[in-house]
Parts: sequence; C-alpha cells; structure tokens
Amino acid sequence: MKSLVVASNNEGKLREIKEILSDLNLDLKSLKDYPEIPEIIEDGKTFEENALKKAREVFNILQVPVLSDDSGLEVHALNMQPGVYSARFAGEPKDHQKNNQKLLKFLENYHDDEKKARFRCVVVFKTFETEHIVEGFCTGRIINELRGSGGFGYDPLFIPDGYQQTFAELTQEVKNSISHRGRAFSLIKPIIKNYT
Ligand code: IMP
Repeated sequence: MKSLVVASNNEGKLREIKEILSDLNLDLKSLKDYPEIPEIIEDGKTFEENALKKAREVFNILQVPVLSDDSGLEVHALNMQPGVYSARFAGEPKDHQKNNQKLLKFLENYHDDEKKARFRCVVVFKTFETEHIVEGFCTGRIINELRGSGGFGYDPLFIPDGYQQTFAELTQEVKNSISHRGRAFSLIKPIIKNYT
C-alpha cells in the first residue's frame, strides 16, 4: 500500500479528504503524524501559492509524495474576502465561531440577493517527478443565521446553489459530491490513482 501525506492538520478537512479518497487503498498520513514539522506560515496572496508552499515544505522534509489543499470562502459583497484569509478572518488564533460571527456582522446590512458567495479549493499533488495543480469551486449564498451542526468552518452559513440546506445540514456524502474540495479532489484522484 502506498503512503501519501496530506499537508494539513485541520480535522474537518482531513475527515473529508479521507472519505473522498477512501476507495484508493492508500495509507493516508497527515501533519498530525509528524509533530516535528514546524507550522507552515500561509503567507501567499493566492490559494495556489499557499497550497504549493505547504506541499513543497512538507515534501522537502519528508521526501514522500504530498497532497495539499488551500481553500476559502469568497463573498461578492465583500470584494471576494475573506478569500485566502478565511481561516484567520477574525484574527489569531484561528476560531471558526468568531469567523462566522464576523461574517454575519459584516453582511448584516446587505440584502439577501447581495450575499452571493463561493468556496474555492486548490489542490496540489507533489511527487518526486512533478507538481499537479487543480481547482474546484462551489457557488452559493450566505444566510443570516447559523444552521446545522455538520461540517466545519463557514458551513453553517453557506447554502450551495440548488439546495435549501446549509453545508452543515447536508450529509457529508452530499457535501463531498458538490463541494469545492470534492470537485478539486475528483480532478486529482485519477492522477493519484495512476501514481499509486
Ligand atoms: P486553509 O486551511 O488555509 O485552507 O483554510 C481554509 C479555511 O477556509 C478554513 O479554516 C475555513 O475557514 C474555510 N473553509 C475552507 N473549506 C471550507 C469548507 O468546506 N467549509 C467551511 N469552511 C471552509
């Protein structure tokens, strides 16, 4: 069985990535298995820069194939913010609840039809030979109150287009089938499969 390291220690993300790749017969490790790796500073200006930085730093230390993703929420009324700053929207340390409260506050004076948003996810698969980069989107809107207890991050505030429930109300299976991460990973999956 081939092993692959996912350059993340975000529980919510790791759960989703494991589920999405579950049929590939991989020994999936994450940064939780390598506490000696120092925190990677995500100081890129784009999702791609951050995803590449995470993959390269972990690859340089471990010398094994690495998967990384950088993702976030872009809200039209906020000029596509918080974007790459999604995890730390309300400051350090990262706090999903505070981020959601800040988003609700920023949007309280906007009409519902101005609350269009999209999640984006860039995935990098770095091997000894090359770096593969793919991207996935999920469009939808932000609502005025938190709904649901599944998922993580901004999920209780985001309703994907074509649905009435938030990401936090939909099952993990449904979320993975339409989410930015699910879409990006479905593009990278055949490449990983070919490699393993
Ligand atoms: P990253 O670890 O730098 O990619 O940060 C991603 C941040 O974007 C997370 O901490 C969340 O705030 C937000 N985010 C990304 N994907 C999702 C998702 O699927 N649901 C909810 N929030 C997400």
